[in-house]
Amino acid sequence: MAKEIFGVKSPNRDCTDAKCPFHGQINVKKELFTGKVMKKDINGSATIEWFRPYFVPKYERYETRRSRMRVHNPQCVDAQIGQEVIVAKSRPLSKTKNHIILGVVEIEVKKE
Ligand SMILES: [Zn+2]
Repeated sequence: MAKEIFGVKSPNRDCTDAKCPFHGQINVKKELFTGKVMKKDINGSATIEWFRPYFVPKYERYETRRSRMRVHNPQCVDAQIGQEVIVAKSRPLSKTKNHIILGVVEIEVKKE
């Protein structure tokens, strides 16, 4: 059982998920992405999205493009819609999932 993966600490929750990188039998690669959870279902899947600037040569300006990814949402992490999460690459888990959520990114709120 891994206590920490790439600086993300293992959640202190019960977990029977075989596809969990902390409690299950699966390894993750250091290929990390961060994104916001847009969709979530009861079967341990989630959809994350993030935005990136894309340069358009004709107009010499940037436009915003969206990237989306289907990811595994382990039982112990259980990320909710709207949360920023960090995901890591794994072996293919299903037809559309190749990544697993490691944890929720806590965004620091600036105090004035
Ligand atoms: Zn777990």
